[in-house]
Amino acid sequence: MGGWLLWRMRPAAIGYVLLVQALALALVVLVFVTGRRPDSDDLLNFAVLASTAGATIVITSVSINLRRQIRRNPWTLHIVYLAAGILLLPTNLLVLLLLGPTLHGVLHDRPEAHRWLFTTAATTVATFAARLVAGWNEPVWTAVNFFAVGVVLLVVRASVVAGGIRLRTPGAPRSTVLGEPIDVLLGIVAASLGGLLAVAMSQEPLAALLAGPPMVLLDLASQLPQWRRTAQNDGKTGLANSSHWERIARVELMRARQRQQPVALLLLDLDRFKRVNDELGHLAGDTVLAKFAKMLQENVRSEDLVGRFGGEEFVVLLPGTQGETAYRVADRIRVSTSALSVDTRDIHGDQRELTGLTVSIGVATTGRFDYELTDLLVAADAAMLAAKAAGRNVVTVA
Ligand code: GH3
Ligand code: MG
Ligand code: MG
Repeated sequence: MGGWLLWRMRPAAIGYVLLVQALALALVVLVFVTGRRPDSDDLLNFAVLASTAGATIVITSVSINLRRQIRRNPWTLHIVYLAAGILLLPTNLLVLLLLGPTLHGVLHDRPEAHRWLFTTAATTVATFAARLVAGWNEPVWTAVNFFAVGVVLLVVRASVVAGGIRLRTPGAPRSTVLGEPIDVLLGIVAASLGGLLAVAMSQEPLAALLAGPPMVLLDLASQLPQWRRTAQNDGKTGLANSSHWERIARVELMRARQRQQPVALLLLDLDRFKRVNDELGHLAGDTVLAKFAKMLQENVRSEDLVGRFGGEEFVVLLPGTQGETAYRVADRIRVSTSALSVDTRDIHGDQRELTGLTVSIGVATTGRFDYELTDLLVAADAAMLAAKAAGRNVVTVA
């Protein structure tokens, strides 16, 4: 993913990234020049907050590095102590808290340095936007401001980052631009924890230490979307993997049985796929699988469940669908498969355009085989084998 290498981006994206970074830098300079002189209470608050945050960052980073995991951007962690700092610290000490993301950058290999610089700049802009709302010189502690700090911090940061992603990759999916729903929840938890931390620290600065364990837990929880994706999705095609597909298909069948609605199952197997690997290599084969999976999803409704069953075999569950409609959907997929053209490279690295793919499809319906997933799969598999026997590039209904 070299998408964040500055010189490879589109001009509008480069302009935007540089603008955000310039704004962040200007804010940092402004704060250093104009911030009031910290007193001893401020310094104590800063020392406790920064060391708690620093210790948390080091612990989570070391544990992730030791386990050789790929970490997501640790922004939820930063939100906690930044929200507290916005409410507690003079601006010139608050700015030093922004070294937290820098510490993360140092502790991890960051091949995409520009991406990290950009998100850090976005966090800086959001932090000072929240500070402006709460009261630039002395934050005013009202209930409204407690909420406002969290909301502004999260919304401004998410908007600045989303703007960058939109300009860099115009067609990026919503989950990439805005994060997953759980990211919103984690952000709210982080901002709330930061607010509580500020209140606790105003009574007793050392209370910051109590925030350490929840911050570690929050950082672990922020890895959840990534873990869920790898547990449920097939890496090569992005489709549901077979065990996840079977689980959701069973639930869907149970629901359909209760409502007495028809369901159809398609089992698809690419024809002579071994040849693609033999002639062009396995990487080209993988590209074909990914392109086929994308075409499959484009040919069905969003409520249909598409999965990679294994190898070059795919499954689609079509809720509320009778045999005749299922046949039409399967045949449309068959025709779209033969129209596929896949740009790929062969084993010598030469550019190749692969066409002439075909697929054999077996169809089974609850009307004939009832609502047991295993029975439907056995029937669809037999129909698919019959399609192979009939010469391939055929749809057969069981
Ligand atoms: P048929 O028309 O009878 O289905 O012929 P086929 O060649 O498709 O069938 P066969 O089951 O003999 O071969 C399936 C091939 O799919 C073998 C394997 O190399 C390939 N395959 C399975 N999984 C993957 C994968 O993840 N990537 C790649 N590139 N190839 C895969
Ligand atoms: Mg096969
Ligand atoms: Mg095959």
